[in-house]
Amino acid sequence: MKQRTFKPEGAVLGNTSKSGSAAGSPRRTSVSALRERPQAQVLIIGGGINGVGTFRDLALQGVDVALVERGDYCQGASGASSHMIHGGIRYLENGEFRLVQESVVERNRLLKIAPHYVKPLQTTIPIFSTFSGILSAPTRFLTHKRGKPKERGAFLIKLGLSMYDFFSRDGGSVPRHQFLGKEKALTELPRLHPGIKYAATYFDASVHNPERLTLDVLQDGEKAGSASSLPGGSARASNYVAMVSTDSPAGQAGAVLLRDELTGEEFSFQADVIVNATGAWVDLTNEAMGAASRFMGGTKGSHIVLDHPELLAACGGREIFFEHTDGRIVLIYPMGDRVLVGTTDVEADMAQDAVCTDAEIDYFFDLVGHVFPSIKVERDHIVYSFAGVRPLPRHDDTQPGFVSRDYRIERSGPKPSGAAPAGDLTAAGGKAAVVLSLVGGKWTTFRALAEHLSNDVLRELGMDRKVSTAELAIGGGLDFPDSEDGIQDWIKKHMASGFDADRVNGLLTRYGTRAEDVMAYLAAGEDRKLRSTNELSVRELEFMAANEQIGHLVDVLIRRTSLAFRGLVTGELLNEVAEVLAMHLGWDSAKRQAEIQHAQEVLRRFHGVTVHSLVA
Ligand SMILES: Cc1cc2nc3c(=O)[nH]c(=O)nc-3n(C[C@H](O)[C@H](O)[C@H](O)COP(=O)(O)OP(=O)(O)OC[C@H]3O[C@@H](n4cnc5c(N)ncnc54)[C@H](O)[C@@H]3O)c2cc1C
Repeated sequence: MKQRTFKPEGAVLGNTSKSGSAAGSPRRTSVSALRERPQAQVLIIGGGINGVGTFRDLALQGVDVALVERGDYCQGASGASSHMIHGGIRYLENGEFRLVQESVVERNRLLKIAPHYVKPLQTTIPIFSTFSGILSAPTRFLTHKRGKPKERGAFLIKLGLSMYDFFSRDGGSVPRHQFLGKEKALTELPRLHPGIKYAATYFDASVHNPERLTLDVLQDGEKAGSASSLPGGSARASNYVAMVSTDSPAGQAGAVLLRDELTGEEFSFQADVIVNATGAWVDLTNEAMGAASRFMGGTKGSHIVLDHPELLAACGGREIFFEHTDGRIVLIYPMGDRVLVGTTDVEADMAQDAVCTDAEIDYFFDLVGHVFPSIKVERDHIVYSFAGVRPLPRHDDTQPGFVSRDYRIERSGPKPSGAAPAGDLTAAGGKAAVVLSLVGGKWTTFRALAEHLSNDVLRELGMDRKVSTAELAIGGGLDFPDSEDGIQDWIKKHMASGFDADRVNGLLTRYGTRAEDVMAYLAAGEDRKLRSTNELSVRELEFMAANEQIGHLVDVLIRRTSLAFRGLVTGELLNEVAEVLAMHLGWDSAKRQAEIQHAQEVLRRFHGVTVHSLVA
């Protein structure tokens, strides 16, 4: 059975053709590498952070691994998160102690191994009551049924934060929490609601650029596999390649049918172990592979991004994390010069696009008013919105906010010794592949999750772990300066190659210490800044086109840079970026125009942004 169509962004363009090559889209090397050697020990389906994390881990163990993602990397839930790398203090009241402990440990690790993108985040909880929620919280451990939870009072929050500190004790990466009375709290954050009784402040972390962190993890994996003598290396990955079904024309054992979403070309691929890391789509993916499952029960969450200097100043550089009047935990926090507001938690309909609705926007305005009543927020302040579906386990009448955030791995396929049970992925006369389906998994725990999933895969393959990723720097986090002074020194040192301080800083922020490779590339030829933005140059776009698997113009705007997130996409920028990419990706003029329209449509439909066209 072929997978039902659900292509969050790709559906907009509709440019795939069965004929084998859509006009203006030359064959990509990432796809050729899969087609030319259409087998691997492991095939990972899904290029969100969990699939990509597992790809890196397996590549480091010397496993022959391939990964396919039907859209762009980090386009699903991984690109729609609240950007928090957190222990999940809230999960304590769900009784998820294992998850909180693992999350805190992983948060501390990511601050060390990915310091270029994961930064400490000071967080303040405004508290309006002293004892509320104490009686309801313990019963919530047991029931988690529908109904409005009682407000969480100061006592309960203090208890939670003390447990949180306890779990953090070994890392020493973040300071302990602090509790302030009303007066002191309002001195620190004077725009907070005057009705608060206390404010608790503690540290978590945030990931500033999840899309680029995903790419770094992926490239670490590719690099680990590049030394192999296998054609294409032992770690191959391609975006815009979907797993569509099992009906392999070649009839190979354990084979699935893959489709290049940019050209429509289909080809068969065979693996001994298939990792289904397709997040909220896990059941649909299993269905397409002929093995029905009912693991998932995703919930949708949305965010808005505001250009609102008054609100930005009111946050004082902190995340404001609090309970809204409906009992949901929500957040307001500065991301650079913008303010992120989120999030909702509603049952998802996988047949619909995940978008931020008008009702959700009203909810966000209401929650800002709950803690900052003197600050007015209007629709004109919104520069970007986004939504995604959390890959949560199926939950019956448990409230969405209380569904377990922990993960598990479901195995199907032959027992190590023998025959495949009916309904498993088995091509005619062949050996069945083992399918490992990932159910759940937060951003925060991706490294640990990848290690668990890899261990399961290694067991299936009869191989041993060679490398631990626990202390291994990720991509441009290697040798990243660990202080503001260190950053300034790094910038000064690299200005020697003819770049001004702003440019070096911009590149270090975007790529971490991988900026050295980018600068070497920029310096090797004639370059100029784009007319439409100071943040990009022609050669940097060329670098992305050559090294970062750009499938669509919109990938650059949303996932290789944060220009869309910050509301900085203009008609002129669209034209200019499309023009440079066209030269390097072989797009003809019709394809270039189609890409501009596609970017406009994706921004309008999924992010509430209207960008007017200019005549090219
Ligand atoms: C609103 C919201 C807020 C969140 N906030 C946080 C937070 O602050 N901190 C935190 O730790 N976590 C947070 N999370 C959770 C976290 O973002 C996700 O759990 C995590 O990103 C899931 O990653 P994944 O790789 O498992 O799934 P995804 O990122 O969804 O990746 C699955 C991928 O599979 C691809 N795919 C599907 N079908 C196919 C196919 N047939 N062939 C090829 N590819 C396919 C999809 O295109 C998708 O890219 C949040 C999630 C949401 C939605």
